[in-house]
Amino acid sequence: MPKFIGLIGYPLKHSISPYFQQAALDYYQLDIRYDAWETSPEELEFTVAKIREPQNLGANVTVPYKEAVLPLLDEVDDWANLIGAVNTIAKRDDRLTGFNTDAYGFIEALYKEKHFEPKGKRAVILGAGGAARAVSFALVQKKISSLTIVNRTLERANALADSLNSYTSDTSLKTKVNALPWQSLSSHKTFNHCQLIVNCTIIGTKYSSQEGQSPLSIEVIPRDILVYDLVYNPWPTPLLQLAQKAGANILGGLAMLVYQGAASFELWMGKEAPVDIMLKGARKILIGGEE
Ligand code: NAP
Repeated sequence: MPKFIGLIGYPLKHSISPYFQQAALDYYQLDIRYDAWETSPEELEFTVAKIREPQNLGANVTVPYKEAVLPLLDEVDDWANLIGAVNTIAKRDDRLTGFNTDAYGFIEALYKEKHFEPKGKRAVILGAGGAARAVSFALVQKKISSLTIVNRTLERANALADSLNSYTSDTSLKTKVNALPWQSLSSHKTFNHCQLIVNCTIIGTKYSSQEGQSPLSIEVIPRDILVYDLVYNPWPTPLLQLAQKAGANILGGLAMLVYQGAASFELWMGKEAPVDIMLKGARKILIGGEE
């Protein structure tokens, strides 16, 4: 009898996780299937409870449930609890534990793909959902000097800024954090002296209502900055196309997706993830090539 791991989210049509996770499971010749468990909001509790059934080993959690799953779990590890978002559920002794591997995946891709050192830099984060929370805490831990959070719903950006400020006040970390309304994205001033912009919204995602959209216009994107779009499908996203035209350096979400997925694989399997195979599988399905 095969065992199962699932991806919980809604909708899931854009997701490529099942392809590269299955490639990793097949590499070890495991009789385990990684499936997309598309789950409407009303079904979330039921889908999470189903992980307790013996054939299921765990799950990834994606948009829009990374925050909503926390109360449905038996425990949440310290880092995921601090971030307030879970993207991986592992079953241990019949107990469901939540982890966050997005922060790790984000930083790993930043270092490996761009050799970008956040320490002492200034960044603008678009979004304040689960992914933005992971990215912001990761950058604060890496001693970024300033973070500006811009979100459509300003209260959510304020709440994230408050969490980050209370975290830094309990530690020796000194990041300056502020929140701005969405309209500030149309002003150059928002990006003055910053070296990194990270899109943590769904804008630009293939098959979504925001397909073909960019959160920024070309006029406000500074030259020689790094624009990192967490959206990985399509490649390149509308934002990255504009950023490239503006003379910026660009990074898409694919490498982060694979690194966070590799960390999830290790939590479920207790084995080293075959990262190269996962990267190759993800690039093949998304870009159609071997690169
Ligand atoms: P989430 O918790 O649902 O948050 C969604 C964010 O997008 C919120 O900030 C939301 O703003 C914003 N948003 C949605 N529609 C918008 C619109 N029409 N205009 C402006 N802002 C809008 O989702 P998430 O888990 O943080 O994921 C966010 C994105 O990151 C997704 O595209 C996801 O695929 C991507 N991601 C990629 C990776 C990777 O490994 N590459 C990992 C994690 C996430 P409001 O607060 O105003 O609703």
